[in-house]
Amino acid sequence: MLEEIYNNRLNIKQNEIKNISIKYENILENVIPKIIINNKVFNGVLEYDKSLLTYKDFGGIMLAKLNNIPLEMVKCSHCGRYHSDNGKFAYTPHRTHLCLYCGHLFRAKERNIGSELAMIYNVPEIKLQDKLLKIDNHCCVEYNMLKGTLLINNQNVNRVLFKDKELDIVEFLNHVLKNEF
Ligand SMILES: [Zn+2]
Ligand SMILES: [Zn+2]
Repeated sequence: MLEEIYNNRLNIKQNEIKNISIKYENILENVIPKIIINNKVFNGVLEYDKSLLTYKDFGGIMLAKLNNIPLEMVKCSHCGRYHSDNGKFAYTPHRTHLCLYCGHLFRAKERNIGSELAMIYNVPEIKLQDKLLKIDNHCCVEYNMLKGTLLINNQNVNRVLFKDKELDIVEFLNHVLKNEF
């Protein structure tokens, strides 16, 4: 599946992009989001200089923004390409990074979290309303990266009631996506 998406590349310097969203149809069953560019589903990778951005990079920036993480430019000392963190690494600052381009581990000077997307776009903070939503077996998550909006089953909430437990939306998504690095 990954090989296929790399065949479809969209150069984001040469194409005008007004809107980027990701949508997890039901995050409880499938942690791979659709990428939606200018209101159309895009099944591929975004290309920018030497960066190739996949759904994982978009999931990573959603988690980092939800956790109010300051994102940095993290460069691999082996191949010189920039690094994006996903899954639990998108909200846990770390010194040793695994470069997904060349496969080498490299060490940063301080613990940090990298994002290529945050270097390219001015990504706003996510504003959540103080509201509780009960979810059953269906949990659709939509994140609009350039607007900074996050919707859970079409609603802007900061807490969910899931299996009779009240969870902070940040903790909930951190947990659901922690292994998606
Ligand atoms: Zn590298
Ligand atoms: Zn890293």
